[in-house]
Amino acid sequence: MKPKFKDSLICLNCRSALEWSDTRVRCSACNTGYPLSDGHPNFLKKTLGLDIAPERDIIHSGLSHYLKFLKNRRLQRILAPVMFFKDSRGKALLNDLLKQSTRILNVGSGDTDLGENVLNIDVISGKGVDILAEAHRLPLADQYFDAVICMDVLEHVRDAEKTIGELDRVLQEGGRIFITVPFIQRFHPSPNDFRRYTFTGLRSLNTGWMAEKSGTWMGPACAIQEMLTNFCAILFSFGSPALNNAFLIIFRYLFYPLQLLDYFLCRYPNSVLMAMDFYALFEKRNEAATASKRRG
Ligand SMILES: [Zn+2]
Repeated sequence: MKPKFKDSLICLNCRSALEWSDTRVRCSACNTGYPLSDGHPNFLKKTLGLDIAPERDIIHSGLSHYLKFLKNRRLQRILAPVMFFKDSRGKALLNDLLKQSTRILNVGSGDTDLGENVLNIDVISGKGVDILAEAHRLPLADQYFDAVICMDVLEHVRDAEKTIGELDRVLQEGGRIFITVPFIQRFHPSPNDFRRYTFTGLRSLNTGWMAEKSGTWMGPACAIQEMLTNFCAILFSFGSPALNNAFLIIFRYLFYPLQLLDYFLCRYPNSVLMAMDFYALFEKRNEAATASKRRG
């Protein structure tokens, strides 16, 4: 875990600060201990009730199964592309957020580490993960962070409202939140998949958040590519999951060039009508200002 974030941790039972030792972190007030897994504090309940599959994703596990003779994950990704074209304006907003903030929380980070100023949280241990914790009960102090990132995560959490409440709680007033959510995308349990958001649904996640900028993150061409890929895999699988996974690889290559159209389509405002994924950058409103606006 990155040392600069050690003082962000609080006890899930009593919300007091935690003390560190070599083998665990312990609450000085109620004496609850949390184990360290590979040096990273583990706040997961033993009975998570999250149906966590041993692998992160059936797409990835399916592909890794066929490509596991290649030890290099990057090579696996190139040979079995599950990467999609992302809108440059959305990427620029994320980069600005990373440059301008000093205490950033990335909820559901996976293996992605966006830098020294980012605390990475996930429910599955991975390369860049600093803390193992659930998004709807974060072991983090109120208003500690000046930015929060939550990318393609809200569809995977069992309780989205509680999760949004937690993102809000740990963020300072005036802080910023960058969220992406899928719209037209296949079912992808990672470890589970509960919901989709429309463009309006994303912009209205929390009344205390003002959407500064929002738009298409992955466009209609990505959506149609993914639908065609999966449709053909299902059609030719004759119901066999193994054949389905094999055909996913083939059809991903076949339809891959389609997504290049998103270079143009993401710029069209009507691309939100059938985008694969949306982004939004919010600012957490100052409570006093919001109240006075309501009165005025
Ligand atoms: Zn405690």
